[in-house]
Amino acid sequence: MLGSLVDNVVDMFQASNVDWKKIIIVGAIFDFGFKTVLDVLQYRSQCRASPPAEITKTGLIDQTTFIKSQNYSKSKLRFGMFERTISLFQNIAFLKYNLLPKIWEYSKVTAATYFHGGDIVAGIVTMLIIGAGSTVVGLPLDWYHTFVMEKKFGFNKQTFKLWVVDNIKSWVLALILTPPLLAAILMIINYFGKMFVFYLVLFMLVLNVLAMIIYPTIIAPIFNKYEPLEDGELKTAIENLAASQSFPLGRIYVVDGSTRSTHSNAYFIGLPWYKQIVLYDTLISENTSDEIVAVLSHELGHWKRNHIPFLLASGLLNAGLNFAFLGLFLDNASFFSSLGFNAGDMPTVVALLVFSDALGPLTAILQLVQNLIVRSCEYDADRFSVRLGYGENLKTALVNLNKSNLSSVDADRLYSTFYHSHPILPERLRAINEEMDVKKSAEKKRQ
Ligand SMILES: [Zn+2]
Repeated sequence: MLGSLVDNVVDMFQASNVDWKKIIIVGAIFDFGFKTVLDVLQYRSQCRASPPAEITKTGLIDQTTFIKSQNYSKSKLRFGMFERTISLFQNIAFLKYNLLPKIWEYSKVTAATYFHGGDIVAGIVTMLIIGAGSTVVGLPLDWYHTFVMEKKFGFNKQTFKLWVVDNIKSWVLALILTPPLLAAILMIINYFGKMFVFYLVLFMLVLNVLAMIIYPTIIAPIFNKYEPLEDGELKTAIENLAASQSFPLGRIYVVDGSTRSTHSNAYFIGLPWYKQIVLYDTLISENTSDEIVAVLSHELGHWKRNHIPFLLASGLLNAGLNFAFLGLFLDNASFFSSLGFNAGDMPTVVALLVFSDALGPLTAILQLVQNLIVRSCEYDADRFSVRLGYGENLKTALVNLNKSNLSSVDADRLYSTFYHSHPILPERLRAINEEMDVKKSAEKKRQ
């Protein structure tokens, strides 16, 4: 029954008379329209005269900061709309002028002439050309974002020289990492045929584990300086928290986030049996030790309540479903011919680049579900922190974090459902207050 349903869907997608180019263009315009409506709703929510009651009650965010956070949100929204408009025109131009088949032809010739390679090398060349193109378009936007927008709100601490060096480092890294990774993906798809979904998910799992080792030791230090946290009150408090939960604490690092921006943060990284804590220097300068420990107790909640493997599993499931969708386009002759490819020419790399555009609404639903899962983990980690007794400090720390990042304290409900993987501040404060009440009444009963 399910088998025949799947067969029917596959037949529908691969029928010869489907005009995929039109579907993709119409889909892109719909997607643009939908996201613009969400942005406009969010923009309106950022024009409200006062913050939600949960925020006013804390007395920690004054009217000036509130207005500043709203202006920052609005400025980000305007910038996002501008970026989206450029990318819409770019995508339509790509399809209208059949740029994909042209790039593919050029890549095939380049691969054969200079590298004696076949479709896999041509796929890498195609990806690098498209990557270079989007970098060229993205550079002025990134420059504006860093040196005009972030600067205006006092976040940017980066010099032009550091920005150039950072960009060069990222390009070199992309040039080193893209060829082997893409080659592996293309080979897995070619070699395993219909079973490729399973093996590609397995490959993603291996990559994730490798990233846990390589990112903190090799990649992150290319961009930032990590120094061990000095002995003292804060270090002792963190060690006590870790010991009380039998957390496998490795080293505690302070990262010089302040050389680039004043945004602040904290996170755990590493393997299950040896975890490092990374604190932004900006977090340390803006919070008391108790507040920092409260933030870490939330992070520890993610570990204690097994969110990390759970989120990894749900991420892999999400990826698996995406790969299954990709499978609908791999040998899909109507898909490639409507994009302007010669008969029989069906490059896997092109399917990889375009399939999610053809399935916009489906991938949007997957993203939505993933956000809901992450959000429920965030609430759960907050509850964990409250039960350990960090409720009050967690609240002030969250407000401080919010203030120093000028995150919006208010949001449109629909916008938030679609975009936010974390609940916004008033939602979190409300849930923390509720949990603190539960804890209090439970303690009373016990007395
Ligand atoms: Zn969290």
